Amino acid sequence: MLTRRRDLRTGRSPWQDRRLPAIETTRLSDKAEADVVVIGAGISGAMVADALSDAGLSVLIVDRRGPVKGSTVASTALLQYEIDQPLTLLSRQIGEADAVRAWRRSRLALDGLGARIRDLGLSPMRPRDSLYLAGDVLDATGLEREGEARRRAGLETRFLDAAALKARFGIAREAALLGFDNIELDPRLLAAGFLRAAIARGARLSCPVEIVEADTGPRSVRLKTDAGGLIRARHAVFCTGYEIPLGKAPKGHQAISTWAMATVPQTRRLWPERCFIWEASDPYLYMRTTSDGRIICGGEDEDFVDEDKRDALIAEKTKTLQRKLAALLPGVSTEVDYAWTGTFGASGNGLPTIGPLPGLDNCWAVMGFGGNGITYSRIGAEIVRAALTGRDDPDRDLYAFKA
Ligand SMILES: Cc1cc2nc3c(=O)[nH]c(=O)nc-3n(C[C@H](O)[C@H](O)[C@H](O)COP(=O)(O)OP(=O)(O)OC[C@H]3O[C@@H](n4cnc5c(N)ncnc54)[C@H](O)[C@@H]3O)c2cc1C
Repeated sequence: MLTRRRDLRTGRSPWQDRRLPAIETTRLSDKAEADVVVIGAGISGAMVADALSDAGLSVLIVDRRGPVKGSTVASTALLQYEIDQPLTLLSRQIGEADAVRAWRRSRLALDGLGARIRDLGLSPMRPRDSLYLAGDVLDATGLEREGEARRRAGLETRFLDAAALKARFGIAREAALLGFDNIELDPRLLAAGFLRAAIARGARLSCPVEIVEADTGPRSVRLKTDAGGLIRARHAVFCTGYEIPLGKAPKGHQAISTWAMATVPQTRRLWPERCFIWEASDPYLYMRTTSDGRIICGGEDEDFVDEDKRDALIAEKTKTLQRKLAALLPGVSTEVDYAWTGTFGASGNGLPTIGPLPGLDNCWAVMGFGGNGITYSRIGAEIVRAALTGRDDPDRDLYAFKA
């Protein structure tokens, strides 16, 4: 099996109750050709297809489920440039220069993504600042150092002590870092928007089509489909989410389980500025709001991927999320309208894997593991576009597949 099928998610997210615009699909012929085959029509495949079709390449997108039916539907979609691994800790893992490069690249990617969404008129989005609360990974002193490191790297951040945090946000914690200019949106709508933009430029989307085999050579890729069809292309890009190609996880990558809930709408009871809130803790709690005034709250991650066990925990984990939400923000309602769970890909240093797939010539992977998966989809689209149009990307080495 090229990418083992997983039960990616269970339960319902608020995005599933919103109407999607129609996405045109094409019937796949027995022998199809394209410059590039993009495998996976989630947010990563959608952004890659947009970037490659924009570069003038002929693009065929396939998905064994259908457009936007994988993990992207479960995403809580806090689109942040602040990556999971604090800059000070990442510096210890990969050296300061590379850590600064990774943080700056995420900033640049999020800005680029926001500009692209605006330019193409894809999806409503709201700018959001983010509040990173002191916890067991970084306490107040650690946060202060983290803030200084970020500012030295040119990333504007404000340190708030307990009094300032209470006064401005009504939150009783030791300290927080305030970061700026992140993006809140509906990830399903965004992926659909990118797919539609690529299709309007001539890209084709065929589904359900499963790629079951890849026969690769120095000049081309031949992909077999579950229906016995054959697709020939110069390149293939695996945007298959947590269903990773050949089951070969890059070093340090791990599939885990996570849970999330959304409250009833409560526009009048939300916290000041409606910034993203997350914790410098392991596991962490995080929250955001939606356009109709709900609170989405998630976290409670566990280091296992057994889907039955994961699903059986939805009620219990939802109660824990409700309790933690009430403790942090006593003024809000914790009444639940949506609860869901999903498999989640984590990496040891919070960075994604993007680049050529070892052992498969002309095949690329965009594996946006971690809490910044969508920011990483954008970086993936940028790196793959550069490579397939004969240009270099200065940060390619940061994300290369490590066996
Ligand atoms: C609960 C949860 C919360 C999250 N919160 C955030 C967040 O706040 N911010 C953030 O940035 N990220 C977040 N993420 C991560 C982010 O959502 C993911 O990184 C992103 O959605 C992955 O998108 P994708 O397109 O790579 O994968 P998917 O959306 O899973 O798409 C992959 C597609 O590939 C298809 N596929 C697989 N194998 C084959 C094959 N052989 N042939 C054909 N098709 C195939 C699948 O059918 C699937 O549709 C969260 C994830 C979860 C689960």
